[in-house]
Amino acid sequence: MKLLFATQNSNKVKEVMRMIGSQHELITLADLHYEDELEESSLQLEENALEKANHIFDQFNMNCFSEDTGLEIEALEGAPGALSARYAGEDKDPIKNMDKVLFELKDNNNRNARFRTVIALVIDGKEFLYEGIIKGKITNDKRGANGFGYDPIFQPDGFEITFAEMNGEEKNAISHRALAFAKMKEFLESEFAE
Ligand code: IMP
Repeated sequence: MKLLFATQNSNKVKEVMRMIGSQHELITLADLHYEDELEESSLQLEENALEKANHIFDQFNMNCFSEDTGLEIEALEGAPGALSARYAGEDKDPIKNMDKVLFELKDNNNRNARFRTVIALVIDGKEFLYEGIIKGKITNDKRGANGFGYDPIFQPDGFEITFAEMNGEEKNAISHRALAFAKMKEFLESEFAE
């Protein structure tokens, strides 16, 4: 099936390209020369994912999906959550965002956190939602140069390295995004198998 991925984040496209498999064809907004910023007007990941997917479905009348991801930190009562991208300001600077988190958790022994992704799929105007969660800890310092966003300060439970110290394949084997994507793929394959 042809599926349009409603995101302007090239890092997410790169990750999902590796997950899609040969049964589906991934079309990106860049392929369609769509450059307007996608609005996220809610504090709920579900609503933001639906807003982006429905907007793009209406624009192109193509089956599509979008996703919204948040880093939820226990000691910060779930912040930054849906505000993760703009946590330290409108410039969406990942270094400033990570520095803000590290500052806020300074001297705090509770480093528990999780990444949560919600994918919204719109097929012929019908909506479906898939969630993926990975639990871990916020490190004391930034470590690693791979990945994007908060990857250098997130160490998944059961690992001694951060997402940014993993290669793409290692992160994709366990990530929040990969878990949500696998659920969507399973649905597509059960509903639309030829
Ligand atoms: P959004 O889903 O594009 O709104 O992203 C929210 C924020 O979380 C942005 O700052 C992203 O860089 C960050 N983010 C999203 N996914 C990941 C990830 O897989 N690893 C690290 N940071 C992420």
